[in-house]
Amino acid sequence: MKYEVAHRRIWFKGEILDVNDAKINILAPTSQFGLNVFEGIPCYWNDEEKQLYAFRLDDHYDRLLRSVKLIQLDCKYTKNDMVKAFTDVIKANEYDENLSVRQTLFVDGFGSWGSDGPVDMFVAPIPKGKTSAEYNKKGLNVCVTSWSRISDKNLSPRIKCGANYINSRVGQREALRNGYDTCIFLNEFGKVAEGPGSCFFIVKNGTVITPQLTDSVLESITRDTIIKIAKDKGYPVIERTIDRTELYTCEEAFLCGSAMEITPVLSIDKYIIGDGSIGKITKELHLTYLDIARGKLKQYESWVTPIY
Ligand code: PMP
Repeated sequence: MKYEVAHRRIWFKGEILDVNDAKINILAPTSQFGLNVFEGIPCYWNDEEKQLYAFRLDDHYDRLLRSVKLIQLDCKYTKNDMVKAFTDVIKANEYDENLSVRQTLFVDGFGSWGSDGPVDMFVAPIPKGKTSAEYNKKGLNVCVTSWSRISDKNLSPRIKCGANYINSRVGQREALRNGYDTCIFLNEFGKVAEGPGSCFFIVKNGTVITPQLTDSVLESITRDTIIKIAKDKGYPVIERTIDRTELYTCEEAFLCGSAMEITPVLSIDKYIIGDGSIGKITKELHLTYLDIARGKLKQYESWVTPIY
């Protein structure tokens, strides 16, 4: 049976129930301190095959388990438990559209920010509609935020935990206040890091360039995907530190992430990128990404998992 979004089924502490019935106590450390780790897992509907494909599922769970280890949560769920909860809840909703699935391990109970448990889990699919097939992305006008990206010396951006997103929030809110769509963070050394919920690439002299994983960025699965696709297409790809001024003179720029896919950047701090329209390489990489995520390219089939 299909459910309204407001009554969608979520997996919560071992049960599948109406999202409105999933309740935690207000004093739980996840609620008070953002003490949770999570993934946003994209699934793409393939209408010809009537199949839903989850994208790079294994890599998402590997990253989730690295986050668990880094903030030392006592997690009772195995990778298999996580995959089962994920698949069960999608099937329970009978989804036949694209999804972003939020899978979160959170610290429940009455402890403080120092407690390691009890850890529990929810899996909440966010339906996204069927039709992101065509290239319909709008480009964004972005700024460099005055806030620095969190660093490995304090709150590592490598950990995908709820609390890290307050750093994202202040940058994003500043961008919106100043009339931009979103922002790019510089790291503690003043070098380019990433967006508030995405990694970042530029194209310069035909080379696809992205900051290194040690430049204060999340170990993004989309970033890794783009590096591989771009290399397979014969573009030179370099992971290296990027200076702020390189942002203003590059030919193309884009943000990337499971939710944003590949989102072109049209201007940075009001400097026009390229000719101010969506870049050729940006578009090509995005279209290929969508074909891969829908299970249409045999070469990359190990990246997709059929749900039905
Ligand atoms: N950086 C940040 C801060 C993010 O929140 C995200 C989204 N998860 C990304 C990068 C992109 O990561 P991924 O490609 O794994 O979604």
